[in-house]
Amino acid sequence: MRPRCILVVEDNPLNLELVSDILGASGFLVRPTDTAEDALRAARCETIDLILMDIGLPGMDGLEAIRLLKSDPRTREVPVVALTAHAMRGDRERALEAGSAGYIAKPIDTRTFIDQVRAHLPAEPAEGGSGR
Ligand code: MN
Repeated sequence: MRPRCILVVEDNPLNLELVSDILGASGFLVRPTDTAEDALRAARCETIDLILMDIGLPGMDGLEAIRLLKSDPRTREVPVVALTAHAMRGDRERALEAGSAGYIAKPIDTRTFIDQVRAHLPAEPAEGGSGR
């Protein structure tokens, strides 16, 4: 089975490291980046199973990035889960309106984080699996 790859977009280095560590410890490949612009490039040309998208980013923000991902046929099928800060009221609703599949509140709960991520992962593709 191919390891699932998660694109993590987060400009806070400590959060990026924490999220990447938890995902890596659970067997996921992590493609980290701290800008929406780089995330869009990665999503178009790399194999990405899920995107975790911070909303507050330098340059293009996460909401605009989600809209662009969802309007592009190359990337619209990849689920996006927003990382939303508790203090930023309205971000969850805006993230859902922009096309995210859900959101995970920051600071993240390290006990439930992986289950929250797994809940949004697409099912394993039938083709190319084991036994061939
Ligand atoms: Mn941020």
